[in-house]
Amino acid sequence: MKLVIGKHAGFCFGVKRAAEEAYKCLDAGIACVTLGPLIHNPQEVERLRQAGIASVDSPAKVKPGETLILRSHGVAPEIYQEARERGIPVIDATCPHVAAIHRLVREYSESRDAVIIVGEADHPEVRAIAGWAGSTVYIFNEPEQVRRTALPGRALVVAQTTIKRERFESVLEEIRLKVPDLTVRNTICAATSQRQEEAEKLSASADVMIVVGGHNSSNTNKLYETCRQRCRRSYLIETADEIPAEAIGETDTVALTAGASTPQWLLNEVAERLNSLFS
Ligand code: SF4
Repeated sequence: MKLVIGKHAGFCFGVKRAAEEAYKCLDAGIACVTLGPLIHNPQEVERLRQAGIASVDSPAKVKPGETLILRSHGVAPEIYQEARERGIPVIDATCPHVAAIHRLVREYSESRDAVIIVGEADHPEVRAIAGWAGSTVYIFNEPEQVRRTALPGRALVVAQTTIKRERFESVLEEIRLKVPDLTVRNTICAATSQRQEEAEKLSASADVMIVVGGHNSSNTNKLYETCRQRCRRSYLIETADEIPAEAIGETDTVALTAGASTPQWLLNEVAERLNSLFS
């Protein structure tokens, strides 16, 4: 068996930075909690929990003496305000790329123009961006949703950072038909498109494609969809225990990629287990 590991597999810059902030707190002996799971990966969340960093779902649940870590997805302005009002110290691990989108939509909405976000309405990153976008904000994930909605004549369009390029373009095409004065900022993160493009290439040539990541992670699922379109024998696994050993032959080329929220230690475990299958 030949194993090929994607160069862009695993933690993106923003997630890595957020995890480093959390471990720095632990090293400094600061009691902290995260607002929502820091990373969309159950194994890493459990590792953090065992190390002493739990997650809460609102600033109201932060106990006296605890510091609140904001994850890479970012949060709406009300969360900063609530933390300030409650006197909660905050470590802001919002990814700088996401923070730049917050600034962009806030500036644009100050001129009272509409903001359109192309992405999943229930994704925390999208909800946070919407929070910075003023009162006239639309969220679309399908061209059909645009067709059904009356839109103003002038708007700014931004994208969820992890959305697939094809989806962004198909939704944008419909928006262009309805909004004559449109400013488009393609805010898809380069880390996402590099990983997607690499996964496309790997899955087109591999016999077996393995995507490592949380079953609840949106970007991992998109990566898996991409791979499945090119390699019928694609598998999405969370841990080395889920490796489909019976489906892998000794002469197969197996390619490995991982979502942006998959830690390196988990990827290494999967690679080691795969290497041991025929040794
Ligand atoms: S995918 Fe890109 S924008 Fe999102 S957290 Fe990672 S580096 Fe930041």
